[in-house]
Amino acid sequence: MRRPIIAGNWKMHKTIAEAVQLAEALKGQPGELRAEIVLCPPFTALAAVAAIIKDSPIALGAQNMHWEEQGAFTGEISPNMLKDAGCAYVILGHSERRQYFGETDELVNRKAKAALAHDLTPIVCVGETLVQREAGETEAIVATQTRGALAGLTPEAVASLVIAYEPVWAIGTGKTASDDDAQQVIAFIRATVAAEFGNAAAAAVRIQYGGSVKAANAASLLSRPDIDGALVGGASLKAADFQGIIDGAR
Ligand code: PGA
Repeated sequence: MRRPIIAGNWKMHKTIAEAVQLAEALKGQPGELRAEIVLCPPFTALAAVAAIIKDSPIALGAQNMHWEEQGAFTGEISPNMLKDAGCAYVILGHSERRQYFGETDELVNRKAKAALAHDLTPIVCVGETLVQREAGETEAIVATQTRGALAGLTPEAVASLVIAYEPVWAIGTGKTASDDDAQQVIAFIRATVAAEFGNAAAAAVRIQYGGSVKAANAASLLSRPDIDGALVGGASLKAADFQGIIDGAR
């Protein structure tokens, strides 16, 4: 019922020429795709990648945005600018934004509301650090982040968005959460959504796993009942690696 979604988070990688080359290599997806595919290049390459994937089944996403439409916010990019560049998705509250740029749940919530108001689908990231996991705080952390990011949204809005469960200790480390751990925490996030927004929203919201996803582990993660896709960093930077993940989800 929930269509899986596989998103490539290119982070601060790729010049325009490199981004175009990668998008070109991925745009021709032969056959039926069970999963939705999203590419999230850096801001500077959004428009160029949009032009390449225009008539393909691949969608475009950004990695961050400001919540205001315009104004004196030097260095920021607004939701309508992302729409203008061709985006359908925007990653919000990635742990790197939280860790290095001080993003809070309240800020992520403001951005999620602005994204939805501009018809952009937020991919809201949540996840615990290693210290938090070892202290047995995983559920408390992801529940707080989930409730905080989604506060004040309607059940319909929650049903339409995407949550990415990304344990911080698994990001870029080569240490993937086990299928069981990922399934367990994602089922818990879904239960948290159910408690706040009702069963229909919880049954519809797509929840991805992220953290060292690669072709070798994607298919088995995605076979778990509550895992609705993957948010992929490192393995989305090479066409063959990302294609392997896409093919594992067919
Ligand atoms: P990774 O990154 O796949 O390189 O671990 C995932 C992410 O940060 O979204």
